[in-house]
Amino acid sequence: MQLIPFHPKWNIRGIDDSKLHNCYLRTQQTSMSSTQKLFDLNQLYFDNRFIRELPADPETTNTRRQVIGACYSRVLPTPVSKPQKIAYSREVAELLDLSDKVCESEQFAQVFAGNQLTAGMEAYATCYGGHQFGNWAGQLGDGRAINLGEIINQRGERWALQLKGAGLTPYSRHADGLAVLRSSIREFLCSEAMYHLGIPTTRALSLILTGETVIRDMFYNGNSQPEPGAIVCRVAPSFTRFGHFQICTAQQNIALLKQLADYTIRTDFPHLDINAPNVYSQWFNEICRRTAEMIVHWQRVGFVHGVMNTDNMSILGLTIDYGPYGWLENYDPDWTPNTTDAVDRRYRFGNQPQIAFWNLVQLANALYPLIEDAEPLQEGLSLYVRTFEQGWQAMMASKLGLANYQADTDDDLSADLLKLLQQVETDMTVFFRQLAHIKTDVASLSKSDDELLTPLLPSYYVPEQLTHAYTTQMGAWLHRYMQRTQNNPYDDNARSLAMNAVNPKYVLRNYLAQLAIDKAGQGDFSMVEELLELLCRPYDEQPERETFAAKRPDWARQRAGCSMLSCSS
Ligand code: AMP
Ligand code: MG
Repeated sequence: MQLIPFHPKWNIRGIDDSKLHNCYLRTQQTSMSSTQKLFDLNQLYFDNRFIRELPADPETTNTRRQVIGACYSRVLPTPVSKPQKIAYSREVAELLDLSDKVCESEQFAQVFAGNQLTAGMEAYATCYGGHQFGNWAGQLGDGRAINLGEIINQRGERWALQLKGAGLTPYSRHADGLAVLRSSIREFLCSEAMYHLGIPTTRALSLILTGETVIRDMFYNGNSQPEPGAIVCRVAPSFTRFGHFQICTAQQNIALLKQLADYTIRTDFPHLDINAPNVYSQWFNEICRRTAEMIVHWQRVGFVHGVMNTDNMSILGLTIDYGPYGWLENYDPDWTPNTTDAVDRRYRFGNQPQIAFWNLVQLANALYPLIEDAEPLQEGLSLYVRTFEQGWQAMMASKLGLANYQADTDDDLSADLLKLLQQVETDMTVFFRQLAHIKTDVASLSKSDDELLTPLLPSYYVPEQLTHAYTTQMGAWLHRYMQRTQNNPYDDNARSLAMNAVNPKYVLRNYLAQLAIDKAGQGDFSMVEELLELLCRPYDEQPERETFAAKRPDWARQRAGCSMLSCSS
């Protein structure tokens, strides 16, 4: 029996969790017996450091405005008529020490719909700017996110809480501050799905229907419809974005930039020595490295964020702001789910690594006044490139079940495979899962191309595309792959286990989310629950839920919500 060096919650560089005061990657579940569960939300312990230590907007009305010289504005959530809890994440509740009983209570629905503030909660919206689709957009800010403060749990971890869709803030610009059920279901489920895939992400505690109606023009085509309103409570060590720093520099407020940077380093990067002369470049290096690691993960599982504006980039390298995201079904680097980006496809799957780099360049520009030397920032950007390249290679090797990446053979092996996957419509998730079944013993080496291809057949969308020419090419690639595995230390069984630990069986396929949304629209929330449970174990075989692993059905190919989404949410 060979040892498998992969952990299901695989991460590329094996980040040392102990150095992070707040671990976003999965850590050992702490036994709840050592902590007391809370039965009343008033028992939560808040320590609202962000608003205590950073400057506030002196104005406390809710008028939409430009906020100068402040990091946040105090603002209350807008009360809603009939809060109804649809779902909550047990695991996130555990992070906050919450008992199931309190999560099922009326108090929970009221609080996480924004109708009540419990002891210690303080509501505020933060100020940030950003580049949207490549252009500087000025002040954006929490236009429909209202923070409730920062909890310290019984294990001493800090978690910030944020309601998305809780009403107008000074940063709402022309919009209403609200969110609809469909996009809230998508955010709730995907946050948790990403976490269980081992991908750095913000989490989601709750999904609450507000009882209010929200008007949305889903495809910006003049067809506005009333939709049910909903609120997700997001949870993360912090929600600080690249854009928080950009807005300070854009306003030429370098004192505020320094104050926010120092605060962020002390709180989100406590392992860095704030007094070190090069602390800002060390910090930028770490942001670059974490961003690269996050993007490698996205490319590993076929996740397309859809709106990689700089205001949607977390300083901690967390996946943040689940809007018109999607999952690759047939492998196509040019695909984006976001109809708002349909022409330029700036945020298409294959462009994500370059866009993250571009975004880091914008952050480097914003941080320049702190360092006043371009070279260290340039080094951070080079570190991004190196980390991404090495991470990508390690990731490709692991997807193929190879113990290490050998550039002389594996550059071509992986490039040729990715070309073949695009040549005919091939489901990325199913393909890599099925590739784990390929046998590489001597007898298998003499199989015909058709025989070799048999385990892969479930991954193809259009059987007619499997021409003789294609089968021959794929057969030749499989032969090369089998040859390559001859100097790999794993036997077939170990290789398949290793592959299944990094190639998920279950992802939040676009059509699955849409089916859950369709049912929820009829008052049936069972599929939200079912998907939440399914996606907690994305790498495991779940025979009773095999249908959720199937490739996209034909009806979903062109259906709104399944293949096309807009920013309207
Ligand atoms: P997004 O594209 O969702 O990242 O949002 C870009 C900016 O628009 C952010 O400042 C959001 O807070 C704001 N925003 C998006 N949707 C709304 C909305 N319905 N109401 C108010 N602000 C919004
Ligand atoms: Mg956003």
